[in-house]
Amino acid sequence: MRTFTMTVDGVAVSSPTTFDVIDPTDETVLASAPECTDEQLDHAVAAARKAFPAWAATPFAERQAALIAMADVVDAHADELHRVVTAEQGKPLAMAAAEVAGLSHWLRATAALTLPETVNEDGADRLSTTRRVPLGVVAAITPWNYPLGQLSFKLGPALLAGNTVVLKPSDLAPLSALRLGALLVEVLPAGVLNVVSGTGDLGARITAHRGVDQISFTGSTRTGRAVMANAAARLTPVTLELGGNDPAIVLPDVDVPAVAEALFWAAFANSGQICLAAKRVYVHADVHAEFRDALVAYAATVRTGDPTEEGVGLGPVSNRRQYEAVLDLLKDSEDNGHTVLTGGSPLGRKGFFVEPTIVDDPPEDARIVQEEQFGPVLPLLVYRDVDDVVARANAGDLGLGASVWSADPAAARAIGDRLDAGTVWINEVMHLSPLVPFAGRKQSGVGAESGLEGLLAFTSPRTTTVKR
Ligand code: NDP
Repeated sequence: MRTFTMTVDGVAVSSPTTFDVIDPTDETVLASAPECTDEQLDHAVAAARKAFPAWAATPFAERQAALIAMADVVDAHADELHRVVTAEQGKPLAMAAAEVAGLSHWLRATAALTLPETVNEDGADRLSTTRRVPLGVVAAITPWNYPLGQLSFKLGPALLAGNTVVLKPSDLAPLSALRLGALLVEVLPAGVLNVVSGTGDLGARITAHRGVDQISFTGSTRTGRAVMANAAARLTPVTLELGGNDPAIVLPDVDVPAVAEALFWAAFANSGQICLAAKRVYVHADVHAEFRDALVAYAATVRTGDPTEEGVGLGPVSNRRQYEAVLDLLKDSEDNGHTVLTGGSPLGRKGFFVEPTIVDDPPEDARIVQEEQFGPVLPLLVYRDVDDVVARANAGDLGLGASVWSADPAAARAIGDRLDAGTVWINEVMHLSPLVPFAGRKQSGVGAESGLEGLLAFTSPRTTTVKR
């Protein structure tokens, strides 16, 4: 069995102990990964600190070129990397290939960004200017749903701004990030990017580490609170991209089959394990029956199965923990007598497979509506009145994304403007771009990723005044 290595100070590092990474398709042990010891974490942070002054002083154009070189490495190893993503995370190969291509695209597009320098005052008495300077050592902590895609929002901007990085992927899918760290040694100076892995309290040890100057975290809202609490001890700045329970509002004038298909994928792509997935679909009563039937008919055309097989649209849930969480939600719907239109149970084979499940018009206070499912489970809800649906969409603590669907984009936009979410899409959903800031409202996050705002999050302003 293959054992992956960490990358610390430009060198491959193993550990005295390892942990198993499980293939969600058949529950076999895929490979093992190092358990980062306290000393190894200290070493990784020290290496990042040592590399920081020279990297921060490297001309911006050279750091831009380094991001392009990183993208070239990703492209050159795309085939290997996407197979590792599918094996450890369970998404179909074509989706994993798109994830790897997305990382490369993000690195290239981020390389084209520049940091602004502003002139605050240019008068007879003084010249005052503000530049953006890097923060130091960034701790990047990522979840398991997009083991490489999640790095897109962190690695490029953090490194371009002049920071060095200690990256910790999820212990449930650490292999592709560990492999990427090993590959990037070719194009980055030693210590600029360190990748460590481990179970248990490694994330907490990193966020509490004295040598860390910024924490860029993506994961659940619950863990986000723990990260912020740890960061408070040293006032370490944080960016938190957290959970979502995104509503999609369907107006009665839509092209029903087309929107049903789009929302099927919005809810079920990557087996629903996307922070920005449509997690509650509110359909107008006038088209409820037609929409429901179209959604169920479309679901019947999508094959769930081994993600390495041609023609499979949905793979397994990524890990046992999430699989059990999804089964628990299904049981709650069963116990409460909800109408399950399709799915509702495990697939009946080895691996963490759950049939795509659509539940028709459960009560608004049902767990399946109120909680982020993060799995192949979707409640279809009925509304009659716009004020009512806006209130229901905005209820709850999360405010990541939302979408509104209508043949009349202006009418949809008017509703969208009332939704309390960081991103509102009209007639599409989940479209992200390296040039567009992405941020959660309420308990979906703190700060932004991507675009200029995402880059600025890895800097602080430094003002210089010259007395004339
Ligand atoms: P978790 O919060 O469980 O884990 C996220 C990362 O944090 C993992 O690397 C985890 O390590 C690590 N971690 C765990 N405990 C701590 C701690 N105390 N301090 C620091 N780090 C810690 O989330 P999941 O991996 O289960 O991901 C699913 C969640 O992520 C969903 O809620 C989803 O909505 C959210 N998400 C948000 C996105 C966004 O951009 N807003 C995008 C994608 C997902 P380990 O796994 O090794 O325990």
